Amino acid sequence: MKINFVTDDEYLNHDTGNSHPENIYRYKVVKSLLTSNFSEHNFIKPREATFEEICLVHDSSYVKEIINRIPKEGYNYYDPDTISSPKSLKSYLYAVGGSILAFDNLVEEKQLSNNSVYFCNHRPPGHHAEISKAMGFGVFNNIAIIAKHALQNPKINKILIVDFDVHHGNGTQHIFENNTNVFYASSHQYPFYPGTGSIEEKGNSNIFNCPLEANTPSDIFRKMFQVNIIDKINCQFDLILFSAGFDAHYRDPLASINLIKEDFYWVTNMILSKFGGKIPVISMLEGGYDEEGLKEGLNSHLEALRDYTQNE
Ligand SMILES: [Zn+2]
Repeated sequence: MKINFVTDDEYLNHDTGNSHPENIYRYKVVKSLLTSNFSEHNFIKPREATFEEICLVHDSSYVKEIINRIPKEGYNYYDPDTISSPKSLKSYLYAVGGSILAFDNLVEEKQLSNNSVYFCNHRPPGHHAEISKAMGFGVFNNIAIIAKHALQNPKINKILIVDFDVHHGNGTQHIFENNTNVFYASSHQYPFYPGTGSIEEKGNSNIFNCPLEANTPSDIFRKMFQVNIIDKINCQFDLILFSAGFDAHYRDPLASINLIKEDFYWVTNMILSKFGGKIPVISMLEGGYDEEGLKEGLNSHLEALRDYTQNE
């Protein structure tokens, strides 16, 4: 099967300024990778999420505040890192709606018991966004919303979210730490932004944190990921979601973990070899702020997703 890419040039309109690390060039880098190395796969246009869909996770008053504070000109700061500009709203709505569309396509095409793969190339990232707080470049927690949406389907009882972004997905963990239908597994630099993600944070035995010291190299990362995530989770899932961030690449300017491109193939393949089989995967872009690092890491992740979807 082919990978289904949910993506659109609308994401170029979420202007955060050229000096912000989460800027329009990230979208351009990913688009050029997809159109050069994965052009034979399927490309799908996202749709806007509805207010009710976003409220599956977020407080309605918070969602209204996000919308009301979109500026008519210039920039609005929800926090020092998290910026909106006049045309940002459509990107926010597309990022959530595109992920929901991916799941709804799986249902419509009767692919819930198959190794179908979707990758959402969207921005901004979402895994730091809390129920009523914008954080870390993102306002809506895309992956949490899609997980809540998917759980409404009677065939989806258990979801695994794997987050290999270099930052801990505090928002995602907090949203699901008491919901045992969702397991959240994260490898991340620690201690580091956003401050959460210690190995002691276990939720209701459904949170699996793999903290990594600054300067962790490839071999130590693989050992730690194996011990703290692969070996500890023994469960069958109906859906795998990836918070795919590439800022743990050694070139990334925002963090100090030293992964090489092959690690992104390795981590994706390890998860899919143990927990995959005939279940679908939806992966979505989180961080990754070095052009080469983003390109290399994502290419490796997509190669592993392609190999998974081509398994007979
Ligand atoms: Zn990150």
